[in-house]
Amino acid sequence: MLRLRQLTSKHLQRGPRAFSSSSRREKQRLVILGSGWGGYEVLRGVDKKRWDVVLVSPNNYFNFTPLLASCAVGTLEFRCAIEPVRRYSPAAGIYQAWCDSIDFKNKMLQCMPATKPSHVASPSDTAYDHSIATTSPGSGILFPLKYDKLVIAVGAYSQTFNTPGVKEYAHFLKDVRDARAIRSRILECFEQANQPTLSDTDRRHLLNFAIVGAGPTGVEFAAELHDLIHAEVWEHYPSLAKMARINLYDVAPSILGMFDKNLVQYAERNFRREGISIWTSHHVNKVEAGKLHIKEQGEVPFGLLVWSTGLSPNPLIASITELEKNSKTQSIIVDDHLNAVRADGSSDPDVYVIGDAASHASAPLPATAQVANQQAKYLYKRLNKIIKDRPHEKPFEFHNQGTLAYIGDWKAIYDRPDEGGIPGLSKEKGRLAWLLWRSAYFTRTLSVRNKILVPFYWFLNWIFGRDLTRF
Ligand SMILES: Cc1cc2nc3c(=O)[nH]c(=O)nc-3n(C[C@H](O)[C@H](O)[C@H](O)COP(=O)(O)OP(=O)(O)OC[C@H]3O[C@@H](n4cnc5c(N)ncnc54)[C@H](O)[C@@H]3O)c2cc1C
Repeated sequence: MLRLRQLTSKHLQRGPRAFSSSSRREKQRLVILGSGWGGYEVLRGVDKKRWDVVLVSPNNYFNFTPLLASCAVGTLEFRCAIEPVRRYSPAAGIYQAWCDSIDFKNKMLQCMPATKPSHVASPSDTAYDHSIATTSPGSGILFPLKYDKLVIAVGAYSQTFNTPGVKEYAHFLKDVRDARAIRSRILECFEQANQPTLSDTDRRHLLNFAIVGAGPTGVEFAAELHDLIHAEVWEHYPSLAKMARINLYDVAPSILGMFDKNLVQYAERNFRREGISIWTSHHVNKVEAGKLHIKEQGEVPFGLLVWSTGLSPNPLIASITELEKNSKTQSIIVDDHLNAVRADGSSDPDVYVIGDAASHASAPLPATAQVANQQAKYLYKRLNKIIKDRPHEKPFEFHNQGTLAYIGDWKAIYDRPDEGGIPGLSKEKGRLAWLLWRSAYFTRTLSVRNKILVPFYWFLNWIFGRDLTRF
């Protein structure tokens, strides 16, 4: 009670956090856009006593993306894959909002609340509309926000190549809400297929699970779905489990393009043994409700379609004309210190870009959590020196730790880079790589709470099975 009173009086003395440039600010304001792998890590590490830190993100949580595929099939519960940004308030100001535009000349942002102004009864979770991640909905009242230094870490969106029907009928897997919608749909497909009114043909159509995009996200989701079907679904819907099919499509000639050839062949052999069909060099022309149009196969009915064909630029990044962009990815070019490069080739000393929204001028790096996280660590160290007027000349260097992918049935693959990687390990596959995969994610889950929750759910679901309830 005493602590609560102390906090309240302290807060009142300071007054409410003001938005605009007119307010008197003793500290320099650092605004961070985005609470993903880049933004959340900067928020965690930056000196909040010396900087007036403000985070703007439409999510008031951080998504631990590598665990989303596990959450989508119930191997883990959703809260294991998120961290609340509120952990860092009131030390940092946090607004659940979208940044709509940036005025680099006047160092001013326009932000749109990602909250509703009046109470609207929530639709069910299954009605979650992915357009929330492709447009900027909100209360409609923009607010200005002044910055001294700006960190742009807004990530990228899912690529659809403008394929008709994808946004309407496919699920993406970028956010914990996507994972929740997918899990609900998988279970709905089995419950619907179990209805006595359906023909076996309709059941087969419903139990056709299609995944478009055979990069790590598509492959890991296929593997996790296989595990669910071959464990709990076999136990509780034995006749339906026999009808279920997983089809993985990609335009490329092989899956997991960035992995070593031998590891890819191992993964493909495993998938074939597990009954996952791989359709490489296949082109999806159109998606309709419950139906894919594939150039090489014609109409293919599906019950669930998960789309993971790479990245397209975030609309905020696409709207920026003052900064130089990578002609292929349309991400913002940054120099060796992660400062944005202006259209005239000079670096903006007050604007940093990290993660999927950034592209290095010297050598482009992959759009991965590993890169975003290392950039964020470098950046908060740099900002913590700058605010103390200490020099920080060291350029950013990426240390590739290698790439992991889960391929189902307690097996994974680990591709070690030519230099660096995990000491003592080369290109690994099978159980050892799986142990590596689990330990990597266990050690990287951020909070102590999730360090307890993640292995707890792994163990719980191993003993009792995944939960098949749909609510
Ligand atoms: C399912 C899945 C699994 C993955 N697995 C791995 C893996 O195992 N290893 C690996 O290295 N990488 C993995 N990745 C890739 C990795 O997640 C991304 O590279 C990483 O998230 C990029 O970090 P970021 O900070 O740039 O963007 P994000 O993490 O995407 O964060 C962007 C943030 O910006 C916010 N935002 C968006 N627009 C605005 C706006 N206008 N204003 C303010 N905020 C905004 C978003 O809400 C979000 O909080 C995976 C990705 C997915 C989807």
